[in-house]
Formats: sequence, C-alpha cells, structure tokens
Amino acid sequence: MGKKILVTGGTGYIGSHTVVELQESGFDVVIVDNLSNSRIEVLDNIEKITGIRPEFEKFDLADADLTDSFFQNHKDIEAVIHFAAFKAVGESVEKPLMYYRNNLNSLMNLLDGMGRYGVKHLVFSSSCTVYGQPDKLPVTEQTPRKEAESPYGNTKAVSEDIMRDFAKVNPEQNLIALRYFNPIGAHPSALIGELPVGVPNNLVPYITQTAAGVREELSIFGDDYDTPDGTAIRDFINVVDLAKAHVVAINRLMNGRNKNNYEYFNVGTGEGVSVMQLVKTFIKVTGVNLKYKIVGRREGDIEKIWADTSYANKELGWKAEKTLEETLLSAWNWEKRIRGIE
Ligand code: UDP
Repeated sequence: MGKKILVTGGTGYIGSHTVVELQESGFDVVIVDNLSNSRIEVLDNIEKITGIRPEFEKFDLADADLTDSFFQNHKDIEAVIHFAAFKAVGESVEKPLMYYRNNLNSLMNLLDGMGRYGVKHLVFSSSCTVYGQPDKLPVTEQTPRKEAESPYGNTKAVSEDIMRDFAKVNPEQNLIALRYFNPIGAHPSALIGELPVGVPNNLVPYITQTAAGVREELSIFGDDYDTPDGTAIRDFINVVDLAKAHVVAINRLMNGRNKNNYEYFNVGTGEGVSVMQLVKTFIKVTGVNLKYKIVGRREGDIEKIWADTSYANKELGWKAEKTLEETLLSAWNWEKRIRGIE
C-alpha cells in the first residue's frame, strides 16, 4: 500500500495525467470529482495505462458537509492535490458569483477538512494569470502579481491569498501553489487528454479539432502585437511534464523539504513560443494542411508571457523535458483517437 493522495478534479485534463504519474510513483489515489466538466470513463483509461483503478467519489467540494463527511470516511489520506475548479474565462465574466462560490468554497472546505482531520499537505493549481501582463520578462516568482483580468483569474489570486493566510496561523500545515503556464498535449498512450465541452477556447484543442475537420478554420487572434512575428507569445508546457511537477511537490512536502509552509512556483518550460510558431510547428510535425486566418485581437488577452523556471528547477529539482514537437504530436494523436481517425 502506498501513501494515499486525494486528487480533486482527478478526472479532468491535468488531474487525470497527475493521477497516472502518482500511481506510477507508487501512491494510492482517491479522486473526488463532480463530473461537471469530465467523464467517468476517464477512470477506465487511467486503469488501462497504469493497471490500477483509482478510488472515485462523485460529489461537490463546494458543499461543506459532504466534504467533511468525506474526510471522516477517509482517515488514511495524507495529502491533497486540488484541481477541481471552474476554468472558463469568458463564462466567469458572465457568472462571477458562480465562479467565486465554487472555486473559493471548495478550497476553503478542503482546508477546513484538512485541519480537522490532520491532513497536512496541499498542492494547489494556480496560474500564470496572476501575473497579468508583466512589465519585465520572463516572470520569476518575485514578479509582482497584477489585478486579474477576469473573475476566473481572480479566484486563483484570492486562492493563493487564502493559502498564505491559512498557512500563517496553521504552522503544521504545508501548502504549495503551482503557477501553471499553458498546459497542452496529452498522454503518449493517447488514452487520456483534454476534452473540451463545445467550441474550444484554448489554442491547441482548437487546432486539433480543426485538423480533425470538426472546425472549419482556426482564427489567430491578432498579428499586431509587439513580438517578432506579431502574434502573442505563451509558454506552452506538456501536460505530462506538468503532472510530474505535482508528484515532485507532494514528495517535497511529505519529506519535509519545503522551506516555508506556503510556497509557490512557476511551472513552465522557460521558453516563449508565438501562436504562429506553434501553428507552423503543428503543421510541420503532423503534415496536416491546417486552415487558418488572422483576425483581430481577443479581448482580455495579454501580449506575451513566459516563465523564468530557475527557482522551480533548483528547488524542486524538476524541469520540463518534452519538446514542442512531441507535445503537439501527442495532442494530435489524442484527437485522432477520440475522433476515430487513422
Ligand atoms: N488563440 C488563437 N486562436 C484560438 C485560441 C487561442 O489565436 O482559437 C491565441 C490566444 O489569443 C492566445 C494564445 O492563443 O494568444 C493562447 O490562448 P489560450 O486560450 O490557449 O490560453 P491563454 O493564454 O489565453 O490562457
């Protein structure tokens, strides 16, 4: 029996990849997910990859009573990785209360439960969105945070503040926030990946769906940015590399190697890649003739951001390893599998 980790949102995109990496590192996993944006069949595919079916409970962590009973019934949990959250930026602008209620209550209910039942370690999904458009690039962990562009982004900033304040008065609790850059790609087995509901907002799912013939044409939002080719720049990180960072963070906490009881790290590749570069790389590695056009900027988008990962590299002993080429191929292999394309 390994040590047991609660993974909230464990049937989701990043969550499912993290469950696989945890199991492959010898941890036992219990997933809690309300399946609001993921499917139960993900469990079958996790089992196909690792040979182990994770425990699963379906309920909403925004419900304090259910969360408390869950901890009461699972006294063997030693750490929590908290992914479960709403994540659609546009929807958060339309329904701010729904976003604040869900994303903040679930974190607070978990922290409450952890305190009450003696679970000492938490790793949380934060985002580079907390930096807004930074004045200086790349961004280090010391780069000042900026006011969020959306209620979604603000839930990440406020969640970090909640963790910081909670850690201050609970010295026996240890918390890490991982600030993700842009996660893309899928497991090399093509058995798990990103499953957007409806029209994708994110670049890579839109590209793979266009390549699969589900969408007519990719729109590139803006080519008049102050960047070498005029398109926006992001730090695209392979989802398996990102999943591995969670295992490293959990080990850091469980082995008492953390320097403070609230820490935060940039989790990116350290390389800025433009939207146009990414599109061209996708076409090159897949050989697909992707249709695209340039349109106006998308409201709320920042021009450019990429991570300085030296602190995460040094402190966590973790580094992104996969190339953009293999990552885009993995995204395409996943899309082909779910569409039945050969
Ligand atoms: N993007 C695009 N076309 C799309 C989706 C995204 O040109 O159909 C651009 C978007 O404007 C941004 C980059 O791709 O510059 C990454 O967008 P995404 O939504 O994937 O992540 P974000 O950085 O906004 O969180």
